Amino acid sequence: MFEKILIANRGEIALRIQRACREMGIKTVAVHSVADADAKYVKLADESVCIGPAPSAQSYLNIPAIISAAEVTDAQAIHPGYGFLSENADFSDRVEKSGFVFIGPKGDTIRLMGDKVSAKAAMNKAGVPCVPGVEGALPEDPAEIVKIARHIGYPVIIKAAGGGGGRGMRVVHTEAALINAVNMTRTEAQAAFNNPMVYMEKFLENPRHIEIQILADTHGNAIYLGERDCSMQRRHQKVLEEAPAPLLNIKLRDKIGERCAEACRKIGYRGAGTFEFLYENDEFYFIEMNTRVQVEHPVTEMVTGVDIVQEQIRIAAGEKLRYRQKDIALKGHAIECRINAEHPFKFTPSPGRITTWHVPGGPGIRVDSHVYANYTIPPNYDSMIGKLIAYGDTRDQAIARMRVALSEMAVAGIETNIALHQELMQDAAFMQGGTSIHYLEHKLAERNKEK
Ligand code: ADP
Repeated sequence: MFEKILIANRGEIALRIQRACREMGIKTVAVHSVADADAKYVKLADESVCIGPAPSAQSYLNIPAIISAAEVTDAQAIHPGYGFLSENADFSDRVEKSGFVFIGPKGDTIRLMGDKVSAKAAMNKAGVPCVPGVEGALPEDPAEIVKIARHIGYPVIIKAAGGGGGRGMRVVHTEAALINAVNMTRTEAQAAFNNPMVYMEKFLENPRHIEIQILADTHGNAIYLGERDCSMQRRHQKVLEEAPAPLLNIKLRDKIGERCAEACRKIGYRGAGTFEFLYENDEFYFIEMNTRVQVEHPVTEMVTGVDIVQEQIRIAAGEKLRYRQKDIALKGHAIECRINAEHPFKFTPSPGRITTWHVPGGPGIRVDSHVYANYTIPPNYDSMIGKLIAYGDTRDQAIARMRVALSEMAVAGIETNIALHQELMQDAAFMQGGTSIHYLEHKLAERNKEK
């Protein structure tokens, strides 16, 4: 096992990884920007290295600075967390070429799955069902593009092969709008992702977002840890997540989960990963794979008892998976509310000093957060400051516990989205379960009309 790991991230996930390491008796190196110098998790690390000024381009995305930090501290492995460099294939390569272990997949795997066109092709080959469309990138010839759209049937969605973060997508409802939409998406894709390649698939009107967590070791073993429902989204950003997904066809879930594990074995996947699907009319459609730990991993940990971050570390150290598929049984239900420093309904960011920070507790409650009273949230990064997770024997109990926890939680000095979560925990459609990815946007629009 490693003696020392460098954590190339910040905020709650840096603390989450640090906790996993400390529990395993592994020393940690925190790298941080000037803006995060005083963070408590930086102080708690065995060593810390400042890697640059506040803007992430000069610190958390600064590959040479991170690699030299690993060199001067004699760290053996680097955990990238999520966001920042976690899905950067070149970073994975450079970490390994410099003689460190990258806690995640090989560069080539990240490259394969990071390009949505090649990812879809690989999944089709592995028998993972994809959104109907045509394989490969769209050709240049407008007549060919029109033909492809007719074959798929409107509405269609044009997506950038290199897209991410909900950007580089355009829905097309009529043939008249098609060519213009393709050209605009191409131009945007070139500007934003330095890759003009676009592809086309059927636009699903009312799907849910269901994703499957997998773990794969370097000895050819791969398992799936059930699913999460992340349909509650605003602007393609997840707001709350739960495991298992309510009202799902479990037999089908197991079939798809097994295909995901098989796909991992086929492509030589290493580490933790997530297959994201749209789910409509009892069918799963693969949209993309995330080759890293996800924000919402705790809900899976709560219902499986598996510590996903520790498993990532064990896999990176070359250990065999400690679980077989038959060892994985989902028990109970978990819900995660992302706590953001922002106005609950206008969504304007609210960085600054937190004057009061009182977190809830009690049976089944978990809080993953790096903040505390008197902590100042820097304006430079994401607005998520923590995650509140509630576990119960049943979904109803998890919701009841979440309601109590949200009411106990007291944050002052900044605005948070706690009030939004409180409304969601009383929302009739949410309580019933199975809402689509458009539900929250519709609800917010209705709410605006009423006010
Ligand atoms: P990103 O990498 O930018 O997150 P995804 O491919 O995961 O892109 O898609 C993001 C979101 O866009 C999905 O969660 C879904 O809301 C919507 N979306 C993507 N593809 C489709 C589709 N074929 N039909 C309907 N909605 C889609």
